[in-house]
Amino acid sequence: ASLIRGEVAGLPGYDPGADPDDVAALSGAAHVIKLSNNENPYGASPAVTEAVRAGLAGGVSRYPDPTGKRLAETIGASLGVPAERVVLGNGSENILELLCQAVVDPGDLVVTQAPGFSLHETFPRVMGARVHKVPVAAEFGFDADAWRDALAVGPKLVFLANPCNPTGAMLTVGELERVVAATPESALLVLDEAYGEFARADPEYPDGLEALRALDRPWIVLRTFSKAYGLAGFRVGYGIASDTALIQALDRVRTPYNVNRPAQDAAVAALGDQAHLAETVRRTALEIARVTDRLRGAGLRVVPSSTNFLFIDTGRSSDRVARELHRAGIIVKAWREPGYETYIRASLSTPEDNDVFVGCLTEICTKDM
Ligand code: PMP
Repeated sequence: ASLIRGEVAGLPGYDPGADPDDVAALSGAAHVIKLSNNENPYGASPAVTEAVRAGLAGGVSRYPDPTGKRLAETIGASLGVPAERVVLGNGSENILELLCQAVVDPGDLVVTQAPGFSLHETFPRVMGARVHKVPVAAEFGFDADAWRDALAVGPKLVFLANPCNPTGAMLTVGELERVVAATPESALLVLDEAYGEFARADPEYPDGLEALRALDRPWIVLRTFSKAYGLAGFRVGYGIASDTALIQALDRVRTPYNVNRPAQDAAVAALGDQAHLAETVRRTALEIARVTDRLRGAGLRVVPSSTNFLFIDTGRSSDRVARELHRAGIIVKAWREPGYETYIRASLSTPEDNDVFVGCLTEICTKDM
């Protein structure tokens, strides 16, 4: 018998994209343009550095607050939810994992999106669940019938990202309502809003908390400080749950000090600077529109994005395109899922970096047309 559990041995493993040091060595570029992880090129609020410095002045020999009280209270107060219904994670990824540990039994059905976020499949599979991925409709739209059919089979847990990664597309208010109505009340509905801040200006985008808060059924909305707030390096995410019993279950499986002290301080400071967030979101939307126009102008298909990244059909092997971009010092993520092998996902950087990316990509994609 093998030492490693079958569920684990069969997992594909997370693909973080190419290593910037490798790409620097390969390309000889002094400045690698990293567009592979949906990071924020504008940086965190200056208040974050100040808060973390002040915290570190007190030394690092004590454990952090195990429940992150101050951060949970700040989040709760900003959303009108008691802190007892807030869970903090080492990134929102950590909460995806805790939810599966607390809720998913071997053989349970988990429903999520295709194409989708890999960890929405990985963590359920670790628990021995069956994962059904509902494909997008034509033009990356929402397939109401496919969702209704999948949800009718009786999932234990539903992972729904809005907006979606990797497509960048969003569900509208009406589409989310249909998913919610079709999700059995015995299932936990997990709404992953990692990119929600970027979509919120669109009147068609449903605020998940507003959509779910009055419902008498289990749900949790997940958000993160990694994207619009620019704190990916600190790893902080949070969830707002329908009830305290769910939070208590997550607390039983959570490592007690899962969010470190500088990260807690950083997140409190980041939440306090909403002007910085608004400016990040404004600049990101302008760049998304500009780069989308330029790529489409060059004849490439680009999915309309409500996020800080673009899903681009290069019309040729995405692996080959990614390798050519690496040689130019640019890192994107090549999609390998069946049906999407010609797609790359690229988050945006500064306008200067984005222009270099657009120039290289259009050259690669036009030279062998
Ligand atoms: N959900 C989605 C849909 C994501 O794309 C990501 C980041 N790649 C996460 C969750 C996790 O982000 P983090 O752990 O940094 O909060």
